[in-house]
Amino acid sequence: MKLEIKNLSKSYKKGKRALDDFSADLDPGVYGLLGPNGAGKSTLMNLLTGNLEADSGQVLVDGTPTGQMGAAYREMLGYMPQQQGLYDNFTALEFLRYFASLKGIPRKEAKKRIDHLLKVVNLEEARNRKLGGFSGGMKQRALLAQALLNDPRILILDEPTAGLDPKERIRIRNYISEISQDKIILLATHVVSDVECIAREILLIKDGVLLAREKPEGLMSQMEGNVWEVGIHGEELSKLEGKCLISNVHVTKDGPRVRLLGEREELMEILSKCVHLGFLLERAEANLEDVYLWRIREE
Ligand code: ADP
Repeated sequence: MKLEIKNLSKSYKKGKRALDDFSADLDPGVYGLLGPNGAGKSTLMNLLTGNLEADSGQVLVDGTPTGQMGAAYREMLGYMPQQQGLYDNFTALEFLRYFASLKGIPRKEAKKRIDHLLKVVNLEEARNRKLGGFSGGMKQRALLAQALLNDPRILILDEPTAGLDPKERIRIRNYISEISQDKIILLATHVVSDVECIAREILLIKDGVLLAREKPEGLMSQMEGNVWEVGIHGEELSKLEGKCLISNVHVTKDGPRVRLLGEREELMEILSKCVHLGFLLERAEANLEDVYLWRIREE
């Protein structure tokens, strides 16, 4: 199966494109749609799910425009939105039953599927409790189960691990990874760690534009020679802030160890003005967080 996103553009207001000529061909696998708030991720997801209409461009499944597929497209689609506080009076079971009926899943099949999914998302014991009393993480898991009811071939997840504790995050991530063999999964997030282990490719989006589409390793190798670390004195940190791109500060017993992004010469010049004499700027290996900060920085 192939999902082709072709030259999609969408403006809410005149003169500003929330999504700008976005194109990508996707085969089964997990794709991390990574970008800061306001980048256009929700707009893209809403266009893919048919909740919004594009100004121009189209989406095709195996060569057929989704606009011509009608119910057949909806049947292959699963969408996990962000939490909205709807359905608070429904129990988990009622919520899933309701969505199963909206999706036209026959009762018997729905029951099997719901039992299975409640197990998968670890809500079996909470099945008769109301969503309103759920923790953020539990609501998130109920929403994920909802998106999986029809065993969708195209799964669109909006910040699926938001509000989850670390254990739940890992569990959900692993599950997403497990089911990705025959599904196209688009996972939108602004949190790098959500996608770095499971995404086959990263789609980096900013200001409605696709900045890069690459395997995580490819993105990281492009950063080579632009990631550095230096040990500084505590009081020097505030002098550095705002002058260069700091990707991380690690506090050690000898003082902060700062991770900096940029070219060596440029950083040496800044450091020589802000930091004690004899500092040592050491090259470091890039991680996806570095890539993200670097690529979305304001020029
Ligand atoms: P993201 O999901 O990456 O945070 P969005 O797709 O929500 O980004 O937003 C992209 C841009 O479109 C932003 O500038 C946002 O302010 C704008 N936008 C989103 N939805 C609307 C709307 N309903 N009306 C007007 N502007 C919107």
